[in-house]
Amino acid sequence: MFMAEAKKKQLFGTNGVRGVVGELMTPELVMKIAMAVGSMRPGTVAVGRDTRTSGPALIEAAKAGLMAVGCDVVDCGILPTPGLQYLVKEHFDAGVVITASHNPGNYNGVKVIEPDGTEMDDENSIAVEQRVFSGTFETKGWEEVGSSRSAPDMYQEYVDGVVAKVPAGIGKGMTVVIDPGCGAAYWTTAAILSALGCRVMTLNAQPDGRFPARNPEPSEEGLAPMADLVRSIGAHFGVAHDGDADRAVFIDDKGRFVEENKEFALVADAVCHGKSGIIVTPVSSSRLIEQIGERHSCTVDYTAVGSIYVARRMRALLDEGKSVIFGGEGNGGLIYPNHQFCRDGGMTAAMMVHLLSLKKESLSSLVDNLPPSVMLKHKFHTDKAPAMLQAVRKKFSNDEINGIDGLRIDRADAWALIRPSGTEPLVRLYIESQTENVAKAFEKEIMDCINPILK
Ligand code: MG
Repeated sequence: MFMAEAKKKQLFGTNGVRGVVGELMTPELVMKIAMAVGSMRPGTVAVGRDTRTSGPALIEAAKAGLMAVGCDVVDCGILPTPGLQYLVKEHFDAGVVITASHNPGNYNGVKVIEPDGTEMDDENSIAVEQRVFSGTFETKGWEEVGSSRSAPDMYQEYVDGVVAKVPAGIGKGMTVVIDPGCGAAYWTTAAILSALGCRVMTLNAQPDGRFPARNPEPSEEGLAPMADLVRSIGAHFGVAHDGDADRAVFIDDKGRFVEENKEFALVADAVCHGKSGIIVTPVSSSRLIEQIGERHSCTVDYTAVGSIYVARRMRALLDEGKSVIFGGEGNGGLIYPNHQFCRDGGMTAAMMVHLLSLKKESLSSLVDNLPPSVMLKHKFHTDKAPAMLQAVRKKFSNDEINGIDGLRIDRADAWALIRPSGTEPLVRLYIESQTENVAKAFEKEIMDCINPILK
């Protein structure tokens, strides 16, 4: 039987539309996307943005498009993406965020938020694209065009919402350094951690869309100044965000970057404390999550790679009556189901304070006491993904293989994932084991299988 090829997204990627400003990303495109979104989700729509220089022009285009199709617009100004998601979930019929997340300053983009605060799924994103390409909008006349108002202080409700999810005053006696990278969390994370009782120091906390201090991607290299500050003032930890602060990464009290899978495992230890149920994460995440889950009678449920798949799987499991405790990706994007179904960097910062107050141990010792993990990563620039997957499936047919996204091979002492990119001719390979020897041996088996195809 022949199956029609599934419809693919053309503008939208894993998390919204992104592009270089003045090339793909123009006010015209943003206005059309907003007209499409407003046609599909009529009512009152909240808009917000990160700090990019192109943000003011693009958010006005979004507002014009929404009003033109009859939506009333509430402009929440600069705030983290999870901040707008929280406000939409509480008050609005949809949301539009102007942000390019971790991409450099010459990029911008659009994330569309559903009434429940989640990012729009693939099917609806394709419907938005079809309206943009065909110009199908519910344009209104003078009696029905929408209105616009500003709500620059509404972010405070998000800050209060995060603070309410952890015990009061748990940050007393803790010193923390925050590096929002001149991005959308330039004020909110400091407000959250101060409200918890922490003594807060900041750097790069002025909103500046030229990103003069570091790239919006919070890499180990870019966070070196924060690591120095953490060490020199004896802070308990440092926390940094990407441009729209749905992710958080950490520097420990010794000034060391905490690898994001380790961060996920440690935060899982705090979130799962005293609970049992399910942790949802993509097939690319470290087995550390399973190991920490076992301490709390929590099992891991694997999804395709992408936070929207994790968030939607969490909701689906809850709808089935299952107990879902936590979710997230191994990149600092963590999802707290008792808070909201999206990644939240501010909430992750608060949860780190909660972890340290529960454990009464330094972050560096918590990191050092995690089970050992060696992860090897490779990228192959190739268009031969189908042949590679076929060869791997054949060679490892006696192993446990999972095809949720690419191929994941699970053995007792190691696992590997070989996964083609959805957007470019690229194949990624991850291998993890507790020991380097086992990881290297498994790597050799896989390379022996795929090398002849790559040649
Ligand atoms: Mg982001």
